[in-house]
Amino acid sequence: MFTDLKALVRSIPDYPKPGIIFRDITSLIEDSAGFSESCERLAAAHRGKDITKVAGIEARGFIFGAGVAIALGVGFVPVRKAGKLPGETIGQNYALEYGVDTIEIHADAVDGDDNVLLIDDLIATGGTAIAAVSLLRRTGAKVEHTGFVIDLPDIGGAEKLRAHGVAVEALMT
Ligand code: IMP
Repeated sequence: MFTDLKALVRSIPDYPKPGIIFRDITSLIEDSAGFSESCERLAAAHRGKDITKVAGIEARGFIFGAGVAIALGVGFVPVRKAGKLPGETIGQNYALEYGVDTIEIHADAVDGDDNVLLIDDLIATGGTAIAAVSLLRRTGAKVEHTGFVIDLPDIGGAEKLRAHGVAVEALMT
């Protein structure tokens, strides 16, 4: 496993708005070695930690989270935007730059017997991941491990997440 994963991530200027550089992982997942090694490295960092479920955040966290769940031999829990899940849900609000968003899980997706690994493609402010950790923990589940393909350390989200008692693994900065 020697693929240069960072070289496979594209930077797209002025998306979604002027002045923002968007880190685009579609070019990484279109590469078979890049995609499989990303999932395998995130899984390898969490073997032996008794993970019982992988949770992935909509939408790009589904792509990597599903791969990591298969690699670890556990089930996958989708953390979705509000209104998308058909069963009984619990939700968590979190602040955006302008406004508020809500994520949801099925109320019975995890419970106090679970040790959940949370996966997303990228951590910036940490707001989304912290909300997901809080939401999963409300079920009684243990959430002590998170994995991201990309950490933007200058923005400080990983530090904030660690302050919530969560270990943070990232494949690149
Ligand atoms: P945060 O809540 O500020 O940490 O933002 C992280 C969330 O926004 C994740 O769910 C990411 O998928 C998404 N995100 C923010 N910036 C980027 C980017 O440059 N590329 C891909 N996803 C991004």
